[in-house]
Amino acid sequence: MIDAVGLHKTYRLKNRQVHALNGVDLHVEAGEIYGVVGQSGAGKSTLLRSVNLLERPDAGVVNVDGEELTALRGGRLRAARRRMGMVHQHFALLSSRTVAGNVGFPLEVAGVSRARRATRVGELLELVGLGDKARAYPSQLSGGQKQRVGIARALASDPRVLLSDEATSALDSEATESILALLRRLRDELGLTILLITHEMDVIKRICDSAAIMENGGFREAGRVLDLIGTPGSLLARSLFPLPDIGGSETVVITYPRSFDEPFMSELTRRFDVDVNILGGGVERVAGQSVGRLSVDMSGARRAEALRYLSQNGLLVEEAGK
Ligand code: ADP
Ligand code: MG
Repeated sequence: MIDAVGLHKTYRLKNRQVHALNGVDLHVEAGEIYGVVGQSGAGKSTLLRSVNLLERPDAGVVNVDGEELTALRGGRLRAARRRMGMVHQHFALLSSRTVAGNVGFPLEVAGVSRARRATRVGELLELVGLGDKARAYPSQLSGGQKQRVGIARALASDPRVLLSDEATSALDSEATESILALLRRLRDELGLTILLITHEMDVIKRICDSAAIMENGGFREAGRVLDLIGTPGSLLARSLFPLPDIGGSETVVITYPRSFDEPFMSELTRRFDVDVNILGGGVERVAGQSVGRLSVDMSGARRAEALRYLSQNGLLVEEAGK
């Protein structure tokens, strides 16, 4: 759905240059939730604004839904951009307008009649769970409710793609949870493709199918979340499952990159007579699967056989120092 290749963007300031994008390739499948995670200054917002060409990249090509946006100008670019909704960290609501007035604003700009606007705004507010707030003003809403208004407004033009710039970063954990659940429901019900950027690993863990880790204007790692977690040396796996920095020559890190029914650890001790001592780790729900990562000390004469057994069953085994 989104195919961006070779994106470069340099900001030229008075006394220096900032390379905000250093050759980024981004591939987002239709209907997936794709998260770009990285620290402040990594280039995430620049990337998002390049996807809808609010920022024109210095080099590279952006295709969205089969259309080459980087080849468009003027009215055709504006029309293409309307097929992408944008959600902002600080909501960007108009304080002098009611909730309905905010959600209807893009329709007003697009010249939609008052009657059709009223119907559509009603539907959108129902969709985001704010059916009873049409006449409220933004100042009367909680952060989570304001973001629901922001999302309803982004959906007003019936976009196929939703772009979200840190939509939950200004929210507490409860509101974050409900907004993430809403985004997932919108993806499921409307078939939206969602590209979101965040500095929170938790957002990746909770709703993303695919993810990229961004650093200094480039992707360090990108792909399906579960594939990345199952890849040796994955930075995403390490970031999602921080392990204690202890252990020695017998320490192994065992990754369960999906749900398994088999009780591997008890099987190991029984079959191969190894001793297993868990140093740290955990199991979490990631992309709909129970994914785990454990750091363990494993000893015994048949240790190598035991590790091979895990690998053969689809677990990832990484030995300390290798
Ligand atoms: P992120 O969203 O990951 O925090 P940004 O894309 O906002 O990162 O910024 C990437 C880099 O580009 C930063 O060093 C930032 O200061 C710089 N930058 C972003 N926008 C501009 C701009 N309009 N003018 C100059 N520098 C900018
Ligand atoms: Mg940003």
